[in-house]
Amino acid sequence: MKTSWKLGRVAGIDVFLHPTFLLILFLPAAATHLPLLLAMFGCVLLHEFGHALTARRFGIDTADITLYPIGGVARLTRMPRAPGAELLIALAGPAVNVAIAAWLYLTLGLASAVGLGDFAVELLVMNLVLAGFNLLPAFPMDGGRVLRALLGGWIGRARATTFAASVGRALAVGFGIYSLLNLNLLPVALAAFVYLAAGAEEAAVLADERRRNGLAEEAIDWSAPPGYRWIQTGRGVWRLAPIPVASASHASWGPRWR
Ligand SMILES: [Zn+2]
Repeated sequence: MKTSWKLGRVAGIDVFLHPTFLLILFLPAAATHLPLLLAMFGCVLLHEFGHALTARRFGIDTADITLYPIGGVARLTRMPRAPGAELLIALAGPAVNVAIAAWLYLTLGLASAVGLGDFAVELLVMNLVLAGFNLLPAFPMDGGRVLRALLGGWIGRARATTFAASVGRALAVGFGIYSLLNLNLLPVALAAFVYLAAGAEEAAVLADERRRNGLAEEAIDWSAPPGYRWIQTGRGVWRLAPIPVASASHASWGPRWR
């Protein structure tokens, strides 16, 4: 994250602004609604702190929080494996926006008295939209994580991730095409991000699950007699086979053997 500008450090977490964030200054809304736009990104930042501080309660640190024009990203040092923890961490972000909206609603009289009534109402609506949008089941957005957590306890983490990632990619394609047809380029970038991130995280989770399943095999003595190697003859079934002389130099291609 060296290319990002550090805004400060809050609750022990560095907050960065990505240079592309300045793109929002070129949005048509920036000319007329810049204070509102900046206030909204302040709420996005609080949303990310909702994730980060809830993760901390589960012993998970946050490397940093970075604001992009398409939203904020809290980089947790690891992802919770327990569905309950993932559920609460994912819900904490949108919950912050709902809390801000409720607070704005309760102080609307005060805001109107100082001439900020319209501003408060617009920010209130934006926070409700932020909460609702993030809760769409488009993994790895918050709603997608909620979906995976709910499914995870039922069909297992790997299959839940594959399912949530597939839903996430499908929604990203639909949302991306819709935004492209309407020439809204920031949402197209968001859709592309969701599409790619869904695939990347799915691959990481599946590799992690394979590694965990492999740990049981690790205990087996994989030493093979000279001239023999282990070959897999089925799912989790291994047997010793003689190494053909011609391909002996490729023997290291096989499973772990020492
Ligand atoms: Zn979030």
